[in-house]
Amino acid sequence: MLAMGSAPFVFVNWARDSLPDYLWVAAQLHGGKQRVLTTAVQLDLASVSIAEHVTQMPSEWVLDGTLSSFEQLPEPARSALLGRLDATGTYEDFIPEELAHTLALYEGAPGAWLVAPWIERGLVADASTAEDWLRPIVAAALDGRASLATWSKALTIRQLMQAGRVHFGENIGFLELLPRYPFDTNDDETARVESSLRAMFNAIAPKASTDWPRAFWRSNWRLFECEWPDAHDAAETEVTPAATTDAPTLHDYLRDLQSRAQQLWDTYFEAATTTSPDLYDPDRFEVLTGLVGRAVRYVLSFTQTPPMWTMEHGAPILRALLETEIVFRYLLHTEGDEPLYAKFKTYGAGKIKLLKLHVEEHIDSLDTPPEDLLQYRDYLEAVVNRDIYEEFQSVNLGGSFSGVDTRRMSQAVGMESDYRFVFAPASSNVHGEWGVIDENVFTTCANPLHRYHRIVAEPSPTLIGASFVESIMDRATDLVQRYVAEIARGGNTPPA
Ligand SMILES: [Zn+2]
Repeated sequence: MLAMGSAPFVFVNWARDSLPDYLWVAAQLHGGKQRVLTTAVQLDLASVSIAEHVTQMPSEWVLDGTLSSFEQLPEPARSALLGRLDATGTYEDFIPEELAHTLALYEGAPGAWLVAPWIERGLVADASTAEDWLRPIVAAALDGRASLATWSKALTIRQLMQAGRVHFGENIGFLELLPRYPFDTNDDETARVESSLRAMFNAIAPKASTDWPRAFWRSNWRLFECEWPDAHDAAETEVTPAATTDAPTLHDYLRDLQSRAQQLWDTYFEAATTTSPDLYDPDRFEVLTGLVGRAVRYVLSFTQTPPMWTMEHGAPILRALLETEIVFRYLLHTEGDEPLYAKFKTYGAGKIKLLKLHVEEHIDSLDTPPEDLLQYRDYLEAVVNRDIYEEFQSVNLGGSFSGVDTRRMSQAVGMESDYRFVFAPASSNVHGEWGVIDENVFTTCANPLHRYHRIVAEPSPTLIGASFVESIMDRATDLVQRYVAEIARGGNTPPA
């Protein structure tokens, strides 16, 4: 006897672990709301016909229409039920021919004895007949909150109540509605009852063994084929730049884009080569110029490579551009109080110094180090010593030159929403997090009998988006304009 009202919540994976046991129920109820009543009557009549043979059943058993509840019946009860169905001419209603095709497909399906009369008549299981019939039923029943699943759960609860197996505590408000459900309850009442029924089902439904669900889903891979969704469903925007009525060809767009990228470079190059770098203290000029130069070089290469014009393949560029913008603006933001230009350089140089130390260690461990390794060591040494002799450099293993992480730098310069909505997703992409893998590598098999699993999507070379390219161009343009303004300002001298 279970007391409701204090039952703990148990998560039941309805689609995976319950639905396979509810195939008979779902098949009966698939006909619509009115079938709830007729199915209940079918179960009542079945119960009557087997009553004398089920006195010794385990206490947790109840005939609720699940395949396992039929499977548990002893031989005399099985014969009694089939005999009554035959005598009353209701066998075909109880076990439709398509259900017979379906159950006969699975070796060891619970309740398979129910289809024996069909087999005796010569039925040979046919997967295609079974699939045509089963697909819409499973598709409708997969969602545990939708009507078909809810009615199925309600039926189990009804059977448990009739068997006196459920005791309700006081003050269960929806009980008074139950006699009117599902025919005479209004929408609001129906929603209340169904939500309570689902919660109750989770708490009290007999836990069927997982052998059959496992066998059912695993067999479906062999019995039925995947269904690929239409290829074009996955397509991103085609190249259709706004404000043009006659759609340009990719070639036109590419030419225009590359010319804009080249102009961007020219603007940058002009400012970088005509502004005094401050030969006394060139750190500010060199760091700002270097940051922006790297970004524009990325853009030049990006605009020549249409396959990168998607978030999937262009995220590293987008992320690099955003990071540059944040760092660039943070350096300017802090230069009044504490110029970080020298720190920015030494942070990077420290990383190279560390690499050089590892290379030297490796060289020391070799009897005859190869010549190119020695050359590489010399190269690194020259890089490390370019601004400051390495003995005066420390290696900073922190995550950032400024000691402030990218998110907080973005906050400081008013770019927090860019961080949240652009930088973070681009980072997820670069790091290959699950959401990105899920979105790009897979598509969904449309066959409900495969429980909408993931299948590998075909890579399509045509899925390119002009909006992605334009957002990169806008950001790069903004960065170059800021650079020109900042570098030109005050002859490149930080404010005193
Ligand atoms: Zn599939």
